[in-house]
Amino acid sequence: MEPVLVAMAVTATTEDDGFSLITDKTSYNLTASDVDIVTSGNRRIPAHSGILASASPVLMNIMKKPVRRYRGCGSKRAIKILGVPCDAVSVFIKFLYSSSLTEDEMEKYGIHLLALAHVYMVTNLKQRCSKGVVQRLTAENVVDVLQLARLCDAPDVCLRSMRLIQSQFKTVEQTEGWKFLQEHDPFLELDILQFIDDAESRKKRRRRHKREQNLYMQLSEAMECIEHICTQGCTLVGPTNVVDDNTSTMVEKSKPCKAFSTCYGLQLSIRHFAVCKRRSNEKGCLRCKRMLQLFRLHSSICDQPESCRVPLCRQFKKKGEQDKRMGEDTKWKILVRRVVSAKAMSSLCQSKKNKCEGEAEGLVRIRKEFCV
Ligand SMILES: [Zn+2]
Ligand SMILES: [Zn+2]
Ligand SMILES: [Zn+2]
Repeated sequence: MEPVLVAMAVTATTEDDGFSLITDKTSYNLTASDVDIVTSGNRRIPAHSGILASASPVLMNIMKKPVRRYRGCGSKRAIKILGVPCDAVSVFIKFLYSSSLTEDEMEKYGIHLLALAHVYMVTNLKQRCSKGVVQRLTAENVVDVLQLARLCDAPDVCLRSMRLIQSQFKTVEQTEGWKFLQEHDPFLELDILQFIDDAESRKKRRRRHKREQNLYMQLSEAMECIEHICTQGCTLVGPTNVVDDNTSTMVEKSKPCKAFSTCYGLQLSIRHFAVCKRRSNEKGCLRCKRMLQLFRLHSSICDQPESCRVPLCRQFKKKGEQDKRMGEDTKWKILVRRVVSAKAMSSLCQSKKNKCEGEAEGLVRIRKEFCV
């Protein structure tokens, strides 16, 4: 590509008044420029010290120093920006003038601009580049980007790079970048492997927590079902209507249970428990044993043992108090606590849902009333 003054939005003209640097907002007369930016290809980009200084504190410091004269530059100050492609420097200078950056420029020079933005402390460019570079991360370029991001103190880019390496490690391992890293930066390699290891164990911990949470939710659901099965029956296998003790009239039963499958299984188990002959056998019946555990769990969280109709509730309460005196079973206590909190959580969610549904129903009713 032929050297141009500044790529894209900046155009060079050779009119009588000399060069003019046209940006989105303003046009600058480059004959009045007092600085030359010198790039690695020895290209010179005329610029204005005031603009550069206002966009970058580092350049401002440079401007404060006395001018060192170079041959052929007259009294103009020359600032060398080397180590990145000439066009990247052009785009950088253009950004200092106009704060504008095209997607194409980001695509081509994103990582160079990130480095320049860091070195010259151009915060808004650094933020844009961090975002742009992250969006363009691939298994091929991620190792290079990570190395640069560490040098440029760009934590967001580092983290996203690490995550990509972790999720596509098999592919990244095959890249030239990774091989180079292994040979030249064993500490970074170690950091990456450590990150992957941590991420894996975090994932495992999350999965285990979710599994446990699920179990407690199921148990809390079972507790609710046991209560309502033993007090009201359930629509599926229990009576469809229940007798009101005080008035001996048939009172319509509440809505079908939301935890239908749990409820159904429990009802069958409770019926089985009532008639099982192996219940008190030496070896015992596994199904009855499970049911006993659920009854015990219920008793541990039941707050109305006197009026409770769940089988064995009072017996377990008494036994529990004895056990307490003997010294507590910690595991059981933890289980009970977790089920209680799961129950609280689910009832909280439920009441929120009911409230929403209630509000929605209310709205529908109001609309109907107004529409009629
Ligand atoms: Zn139920
Ligand atoms: Zn049994
Ligand atoms: Zn009870």
